[in-house]
Amino acid sequence: MTWISRRVPLKRSSKPIARRARPRSRIPKALGTHRERVKYANDLWRRLIYAKEPSGICPRCRARKWHDAAHCFAKGPYPALRFELENGAPLCRPCHTRVDSDHHAKVEFFTRYIGAVEYERLRLRALSRAKSDLALTILYLERASRSGAAVVSRPVGPT
Ligand SMILES: [Zn+2]
Repeated sequence: MTWISRRVPLKRSSKPIARRARPRSRIPKALGTHRERVKYANDLWRRLIYAKEPSGICPRCRARKWHDAAHCFAKGPYPALRFELENGAPLCRPCHTRVDSDHHAKVEFFTRYIGAVEYERLRLRALSRAKSDLALTILYLERASRSGAAVVSRPVGPT
């Protein structure tokens, strides 16, 4: 015996069920393919990392100019942190190579650069395998960019 008798027809509401309004992404479709969005987010992230050291000097050695944006937790194994602003620093090439090949050098530098508490927060978040929502990530990076530090032109895809 089932709880709902099949002989009793389900009452149909006279009103059509209103379609639940889905929260609309504020990222326009014109922003292009997934790959273009990832590239756009990456460009925003990289420029915001560069903006941390407007002097152009590598914050690790203080001897050379920074050359590129280094991840503390690498983007491959730690996708949840790929676009985190605390998870990057502009470094010169020798320093970038050094921190990527020497774990202790990396921990030492980033603990000093972002602070021990923030480093620990990142380390715990790094345990998550989840990818961050790309549309929300782009909004977060665009808002961070509004301070004027980073100007990146949006990719334009088919409309
Ligand atoms: Zn350096």
